[in-house]
Amino acid sequence: MNSRRKFLKTTGLASISVLAASACQPADKKKKNKRIVEPVKPLAISTWKNGMQANEAGWKVLSAGGRALDAVEQGVKVVEANPDDMSVGYGGRPDRDGIVTLDACIMDETGNAGSVCALENIKHPISVARRVMEKTPHVMLAGDGALQFAIEEGFPKENILTEKARKQYVEWRKTSDYKPVINIENHDTIGMLALDQTGNISGACTTSGLAYKMHGRVGDSPIIGAGMYCDNEVGGAVATGMGELVMKTLGSFLVVELMNQGATPQEAVEEAIYRIVKKIPGYQDFQIGYLAVNKYGETGAYSLHKGFNYALYANQENKLIDSDYYLKQK
Ligand code: ASP
Repeated sequence: MNSRRKFLKTTGLASISVLAASACQPADKKKKNKRIVEPVKPLAISTWKNGMQANEAGWKVLSAGGRALDAVEQGVKVVEANPDDMSVGYGGRPDRDGIVTLDACIMDETGNAGSVCALENIKHPISVARRVMEKTPHVMLAGDGALQFAIEEGFPKENILTEKARKQYVEWRKTSDYKPVINIENHDTIGMLALDQTGNISGACTTSGLAYKMHGRVGDSPIIGAGMYCDNEVGGAVATGMGELVMKTLGSFLVVELMNQGATPQEAVEEAIYRIVKKIPGYQDFQIGYLAVNKYGETGAYSLHKGFNYALYANQENKLIDSDYYLKQK
């Protein structure tokens, strides 16, 4: 029986908690304390190789007893500031008009959320998203309004198109060949989830989106429930890859809701990929990767194609792990 069918038979979180407990407790304790769960925490999990540096920064917060929300913000900020990551923040590739536009969202343990999309000239969209969450009655600010708010909040307006990204864009303009096919090796949007020492979960996602996208295109990353979603009683999920496929299936919410219904994180991310396979013709041309974590610190990762990897920082160790994937024949 594949895991997709299996999780439907799962009897609920109570059984997961018993399993988690028995997996991490010595035999004598198991007998006395069958229902006690010792979650793996703190924990940080982030998409792609650059997730390693995000986890390092997040771990500083988590290991000092800090909040998961601060861990994910500090973590993804490192990647936003890194000009070598050409899918996020400073150094991100521009749209077809040569303009770098950024999308980001953040969600805390209370279910509060903030996001910005199509934001220009600001290096740290994740921190602007957090201000939207904490200082406005809204969830999302877009374009000029997001920039205006960021400036009012004291964020410096700066040029975030690096020389390297500009040169690549000039080269691309020679053909302007727009094929929004995700190159499996060539994108590294950062999505990050953290479970802190108190057991709270938060998440963040930030990106410059698809290279040479249409001006004004917004992907999944700043959409709460698509690029990222957390429910503190259940767990969290993040997505990366061709955002349109994630948006059409509301992927991160789907993953968290499946966990809410009793799926393990691994079963939930696999089901979210199967949903894309079932619903979206032409899915084979795109890469999608999902990560999930539940309240017990169990994690899941799955992608459409080979090539998705992620960083997991747990039990004092930060590891880069290759995700399992659906299209085994490719
Ligand atoms: N999901 C992002 C978007 O569609 C891109 C990525 O993850 O690489 O904008």
